[in-house]
Amino acid sequence: MNQPDASLYDLDPAALRALLVDWGQPPYRARQAWADAYQRLAPSYDAMTDLPLALRQRLAVELPFPAVEAVRTQRAEDGLTRKALLRLGDGRTIETVLMQYERGDDGRARNTVCLSTQAGCAMGCVFCATGQGGFERNLTPGEIVGQVVHFARILREDGAHITNVVFMGMGEPLANYDATIAAVRTMHDPDGLNIGARHITISTVGLIPGIRRLAKEDLPVTLAVSLHAPNDVLRRRLVPTQRHTMAELLAACRDYFAVTSRRLTFEYALIAGENDSVEQARALGALLRGLPCHVNLIPLNPTPDEHYRRPSRARVIAFQRALDAVGIPCTVRVEKGVEIAAACGQLKGPKLQSAGAIS
Ligand code: SAH
Ligand code: SF4
Repeated sequence: MNQPDASLYDLDPAALRALLVDWGQPPYRARQAWADAYQRLAPSYDAMTDLPLALRQRLAVELPFPAVEAVRTQRAEDGLTRKALLRLGDGRTIETVLMQYERGDDGRARNTVCLSTQAGCAMGCVFCATGQGGFERNLTPGEIVGQVVHFARILREDGAHITNVVFMGMGEPLANYDATIAAVRTMHDPDGLNIGARHITISTVGLIPGIRRLAKEDLPVTLAVSLHAPNDVLRRRLVPTQRHTMAELLAACRDYFAVTSRRLTFEYALIAGENDSVEQARALGALLRGLPCHVNLIPLNPTPDEHYRRPSRARVIAFQRALDAVGIPCTVRVEKGVEIAAACGQLKGPKLQSAGAIS
């Protein structure tokens, strides 16, 4: 698998400092370049006018400026959800979504970016458009950070900034572990994008080694685990690449809580006639008993494979009530951007030939 050359966004502060010091620059140059990149959101080295010209020229040759480029942006009818088709340096495309929420009970507006960590996905969940399209390659840390910077620039035009990040776009973050964590550390850095770890959620299909590693990072991010079923037979049908048992997965989740004291989120895509009965809700409740958690129900969003369907509203509510009744806190996720295929499980990074007009 060919990975692109490292770009500016691939380096953490220490690596950038080491590189510039190696070039004979004083250490403060790295701080300037970092602030240019992530506070001023410079669109090129040319725009980093506080750096000497010769340094900018050397950077441009030896550490390419990130090549994440927007090919198309679509806006949902609510005007608050936007999906960007981004072209990477090697011509591959990925999708990234910005979801804006008007002021809530706490009086604060939220601007959440939904990030991709891979072009495609190898996990093959049968109901997910990304899974249906197969795997292309891992993204680099810089390509993940580039998605955040893209929307940070757009928000800045309105005097706003990114408040939350969810790793719920294309791909499985824990299958691209190192790049995901490096990207989290960059976007979390207080001298840069300054996104609080508590406002970052990593969603996983349930890769146990990754969950165990994440528990040991000093990063209080929220872990969301996609379950989708209350038993192994059904889970293996819906998420066919996962061979471990649910008991093993939930043991890793319990250990995660024991180490981090952080409440987990479980995601459950509700699919008509598959996993949406009240009995299945009760079985799920029994599995999760005693584990501090919150369940997010996601009524299935449509994908090109029309075999799987969303349950009726009544069945969604009955499922939620059954979970509630056994003491499991549970919400139905309000989906945004379904009509522009920007909601959970709908992203697929169409090939450029079919990308259509830029809006
Ligand atoms: N790979 C990770 C993160 C990306 S998917 C994971 O699977 O958790 C983000 C969430 O969208 C997951 O919970 C996933 O199961 C859910 N999802 C996938 N396809 C969906 C669909 N068609 N409708 C609703 N949710 C879907
Ligand atoms: Fe991959 Fe997540 Fe989609 Fe499964 S749901 S195919 S893990 S992106």
